[in-house]
Amino acid sequence: MALSSNSEQHSTNSVASFNVNEIRASFPILSQQVYGKPLVYFDNGATTQKPKVVLDTIEHFYNGINANIHRGVHKLSEESTSAYEAARETVREFINARSTKEIIFTSGATASINLVAFAFGEAFVKAGDEVIVSEMEHHSNIVPWQMLCERKGATLKVLPFDDNGELIISKLDELITSKTRILAVTHVSNSLGTVNPIKEIIARAHASGVKVLVDGAQGIKHGVVDVTSLDADFYVFSGHKIYGPTGIGVVYGKEELLNALPPWQGGGDMISTVSFEKTVYNELPFKFEAGTANYIGAAALATALKFYKSVGIQAATDYETELLHYATKRLQEVEGLRIVGNAAHKASIISFVLDGIHPYDTGMILDKMGIAVRTGTHCTEPVMAHFGITGTVRASLAFYNTKEEVDKLVDGVLRVKQMFG
Ligand code: PMP
Repeated sequence: MALSSNSEQHSTNSVASFNVNEIRASFPILSQQVYGKPLVYFDNGATTQKPKVVLDTIEHFYNGINANIHRGVHKLSEESTSAYEAARETVREFINARSTKEIIFTSGATASINLVAFAFGEAFVKAGDEVIVSEMEHHSNIVPWQMLCERKGATLKVLPFDDNGELIISKLDELITSKTRILAVTHVSNSLGTVNPIKEIIARAHASGVKVLVDGAQGIKHGVVDVTSLDADFYVFSGHKIYGPTGIGVVYGKEELLNALPPWQGGGDMISTVSFEKTVYNELPFKFEAGTANYIGAAALATALKFYKSVGIQAATDYETELLHYATKRLQEVEGLRIVGNAAHKASIISFVLDGIHPYDTGMILDKMGIAVRTGTHCTEPVMAHFGITGTVRASLAFYNTKEEVDKLVDGVLRVKQMFG
């Protein structure tokens, strides 16, 4: 994802050949009007829009295949099961995991982190141990760890970031002790846009025997993710943030680690035999998938991942980076506007505040112009506390956005300023 001079050359070429209009045509919702104005959708950090192929997968599945998986002998159930397991293979390939045993389907990134925090905590965390999270985590990657620490009598420690929004990696050496069991860190900050050097962070943690969970909710859609090369112990993400449906998510975990963890929920499918005396759990990955899985969500996620690949992951990321640079430059021209999060390496997320104007008011007025942004703390209250603010306006851009839309955002912000005198 880094823009080195080589990749800058590569990026110039791929951005020039990136056909954004063709891509936009694949997303039905983007052609709609809001309050009589063309929709400008800049809330991709919260959720992305879905290409028609994803919607078609869902419709086709319900119309032609639907049956519960794993338990049936009939044709539909076999087809449904094959589609679900094929989706697992698509995810495995997408993140370059070694085996489908390492891919567990959940309902989303939040459920994935809760799964790991619970199961890893049961297996490896005891009273007096330590868990590290970073200061820029989404609440989803703070609270499950706090709950674990409370349950076990462990201590939560925090890796801080500096005023540009970059993690102070050197502090890891002080924070990690012989009691540290796991470090949970985001790949990309959803409120600052920072792309963290997770490969380096993982290597440093591993040097002290500390396991690492990477929250990939934002990172999964900003460049190629290769969990094997990263050497991540766990990498989690949600389907809906990568052009797939809601209600489906993934835990990637190293096979030997997942084998060492107890299940986190009990029920059908996660067992191999049950009696009142003793239950034997199923093998991976089913051990962690109790109850009826969201098999249609998984199939639709697989379609989304294939779609993203067909667009070109690197080309899409390069295009988004160019949009980010353009939007940053244009917004910086607005007097009284301050960008929150100025890391050297950012994904296409821009948070900003306007002097004397509440983010909520800005968001409301932009909405009336057809521009969808998010306002508030973005579920990162500690980030807001760091900067002493109550919230920001956040524009999060995707590869289907355009420079013309960025111009509309800047015009909208200027109008907001005018209205507030
Ligand atoms: N982590 C990060 C960095 C996020 O941006 C989000 C969603 N905003 C989550 C975790 C939680 O994802 P979900 O709500 O899909 O479970």
